[in-house]
Amino acid sequence: MRRRERNRRLGGMPDAPTIFERIIAREIPADIVYEDERVIAFRDIAPQAPVHLLVVPKTAQYPDVAALASADAALLAHIVDVARQLAAEHADGDYRLVFNSGANAGQTVFHVHAHVLAGGLAEGTLG
Ligand code: AMP
Repeated sequence: MRRRERNRRLGGMPDAPTIFERIIAREIPADIVYEDERVIAFRDIAPQAPVHLLVVPKTAQYPDVAALASADAALLAHIVDVARQLAAEHADGDYRLVFNSGANAGQTVFHVHAHVLAGGLAEGTLG
């Protein structure tokens, strides 16, 4: 569901920017660790692993990973590649890549983003 449609259904502002759009526009600060013409990456404000980064496409048109995958597989592949590079730079190269999809899966920002979790994660856990 596109953001405008979701906002309309939720009775919100029709075009209210997400927090990630405001970070991309430098309206609010973030600890930015990577940026190129298609994506930005910054530290999660509430880290759930020793290294917890978010890789976010600059376009706001895809609310979740399935919408992105069906419309722009190359951009999704780029996000995965940036995640791999960041895990090598900020940890030992091993990482967990999480895309929460839907409120019941814990998604709170409906602008697709990859969580890059790294830095010594326990085996047999996903949380
Ligand atoms: P999700 O719950 O999958 O939609 O992920 C949204 C993530 O954004 C959460 O892990 C939040 O901690 C993170 N977050 C929210 N606001 C900020 C912010 N201003 N700077 C960095 N990360 C944020």
